[in-house]
Amino acid sequence: MTKLNWGMIGGGEGSQIGPAHRLGAQADGHFTFAAGALDIDADKGRAYAQSLGVAADRAYGNWQEMLDGEKGREDRIDLVTVATPNSTHYEITKAFLEAGFNVLCEKPMTMTVEEGEDIVRTAEATGRICAVNYCYSAYPMVRHMRHMVASGELGAIRCVVANFSHGHHADAGDADNPRVRWRYDPAMAGVSGQMADCGIHALNLATFITGDEVTTLSADFASTIPSRVLEDDAMVNFRLSKGTIGRLWTSTIAIGRMHGLDIQVFGEKGGVRWHSEQPGQVWYTRLNGRTEIIEKGEGGISEMAAHVSRVPIAHPEGFPLAVANIYVDLAAAIRARRDGTPLDPAADHFPKAEAGLRSMASVYATVASAKADGAWVDARPPMYR
Ligand code: NAD
Repeated sequence: MTKLNWGMIGGGEGSQIGPAHRLGAQADGHFTFAAGALDIDADKGRAYAQSLGVAADRAYGNWQEMLDGEKGREDRIDLVTVATPNSTHYEITKAFLEAGFNVLCEKPMTMTVEEGEDIVRTAEATGRICAVNYCYSAYPMVRHMRHMVASGELGAIRCVVANFSHGHHADAGDADNPRVRWRYDPAMAGVSGQMADCGIHALNLATFITGDEVTTLSADFASTIPSRVLEDDAMVNFRLSKGTIGRLWTSTIAIGRMHGLDIQVFGEKGGVRWHSEQPGQVWYTRLNGRTEIIEKGEGGISEMAAHVSRVPIAHPEGFPLAVANIYVDLAAAIRARRDGTPLDPAADHFPKAEAGLRSMASVYATVASAKADGAWVDARPPMYR
């Protein structure tokens, strides 16, 4: 099987998410790191790409140069990852889709719902794959929970409770720190702070595991550090299309919580719980039964989870390998489209542009609701109403 060519925009030296993509894309041997425009500083970007093994003529100074350079090549990249700051995602993703490239875009996919709809339509019109890096959906035991819901093991789902609350911006003395301040500044971050940054991961998990969509929601936003214009804490009540009740708490001032992403799903026959800091385990309780722990790697685990597991039981597969799972699925999807062969259904669980759009619609709905004192609002993108 020949390797696919992969390129990256953003994710330069010292960036937060860049290393996870480089580890993820190359972990399973599906992709060669062939091209990059890695940094806002052209010279730094070129030098860093070459230090990572990218050929000099494919170590580009900016994304427009990369688009022009790659378009005309026989061995053009099969997939480009967009890992730049949020406000640039739409323009870069759209340009690469229109030029016929497959794209994996970081979250949030766009800054507005309209842009999100445009990306979904552009991907459809061009026949290219547009994925969004909701990497928590690619943890083996999250996939296993999706299987448990889909197979009816939990019965009809009554309630989902999701949290993505950490304490890393709790220091009021940090309010003027430039690395923190931009996140609460609408000019840089958009309409929402913590909800758009972390809340959408938890909401995406709620929909991924239940196989359902958010229809309406009611939100309470707070800026607990008064100089912050955008929210640093949000509580969101939501409803899924099949009537499931949803609760979401997302915060940056929760001192003592570290990564702080966890989710519980309560069905009529049982409940499950997953915590990102113990990612290899699902706590499972049957109605009127004791709690048992399902371990990644144990016998009888679902095909959906086994498909994305590599190392033996009790050995954690954390964040970079979850990102790698997105790349494994993307490699399968790219090859299937290229060769005109059917895609293995086990590889078709990667998050697509539709998930990026639904997230943006939910973010805008939370903002509208919070401004209207928690009024319930429609959270569906207009094109899906
Ligand atoms: P960062 O500020 O740490 O790094 C951004 C990198 O992009 C830097 O190397 C910068 O030089 C480069 N860059 C900026 N503008 C560019 C441009 N126009 N062209 C090329 N390179 C450019 O940011 P980060 O924390 O790595 O976040 C990047 C994106 O990844 C954000 O959208 C963020 O929301 C997302 N992210 C996602 C996850 C996840 O779990 N999926 C986690 C962290 C960050």
